[in-house]
Amino acid sequence: LKTEPSHSSIIQISERVSAGGSELLLIGGPCSVESRAQMDAVASRLSVAGVQALRGGVYKPRTSPYDFQGMGREGLEILAAVRDRTGMPVVTEVMAVSQIEEIAAYADVLQIGSRNMQNFDLLKALGHVDKPILLKRGLAATIEEFVMAAEYILAHGNPNVMLCERGIRSFDTYTRNVLDLGAVVALKQITHLPVIVDPSHAAGKRELVPNLTLAAIAAGADGLIIECHPDPEKSVSDARQALSLDDMVAIVEKVRAIAPIV
Ligand code: PEP
Ligand code: MN
Repeated sequence: LKTEPSHSSIIQISERVSAGGSELLLIGGPCSVESRAQMDAVASRLSVAGVQALRGGVYKPRTSPYDFQGMGREGLEILAAVRDRTGMPVVTEVMAVSQIEEIAAYADVLQIGSRNMQNFDLLKALGHVDKPILLKRGLAATIEEFVMAAEYILAHGNPNVMLCERGIRSFDTYTRNVLDLGAVVALKQITHLPVIVDPSHAAGKRELVPNLTLAAIAAGADGLIIECHPDPEKSVSDARQALSLDDMVAIVEKVRAIAPIV
C-alpha cells in the first residue's frame, strides 16, 4: 500500500506552512465564510496569534436542504483575497467532482468532508489535483476504510493527503461525535500521512474544544483544525461549537506551552 509507514510525509501547503514536520499545524476559522469583514476579522487576529492557515466553507454539506448552503464563488473570492492580504493559506471543502477545478483555482488545501469520504469518483479525481487534500474521516468509517479512502487519492497520483479525525457516531449524544484519539495513535503507526484533529466537529460544544485540543497533541496529532468566529453565537452554521477569537487565541497560547508552532 502507498500509505504504509516507511517514512513520515511532510506536506507543503504554502512556501512557509507545512504539515507533518516538527511543528504543529494550526488551522482556524469559521464553519462558513459569511462576509469579507468576517474573514478579515478572523485572519487579522489569528495570523498575529500564530495560527498558520485559515478554514472556511463556501460549499456546505448541510443536513437540511433549507439551511444556508454556502456563498459559493463569492466565498472563494473572499478566501483568496484574505490569503493574498495575510499570506495565510486557505482550506475549503469540495463536495463534488464538478467543483474541483473552480475551488483548486482559489484554495490552497481541498477539504473532503466526512459525508464524502467514500465518494470514490471524487477521491479518484483528487488524485489528479496539484493541491494538498484534507481528508475527513467518515461519520461511521472504520480506520481501515479511512486509510483505504486516502489510498484512493494516492493511487491516482496525488501523494499530498492529510488525514483528519473529526469524531465518529456513537450511542451518546452529549458530544456531537466521539473524538477517536485511538485512531490518531493508530493512524500515525500504520501510515506515513500527517494526522490533523478537528475537535470542533467531534465535540459540538465549544467548552470541550480546549482540552480535546491538548489531548489530540498528546495522542500525536500533527495539527488541529478548529472552528472560531468573531461573533460565535451568530455563526450561520455550527454556532454551538464555534469559539470566540479570544478563546481561539487562548488555545494557541496553551498549545504553545506544550508543542512547537511556528
Ligand atoms: C466542516 O468542516 O465544517 C464540516 C462540515 O466537517 P465534517 O465533514 O467533518 O462534518
Ligand atoms: Mn462546521
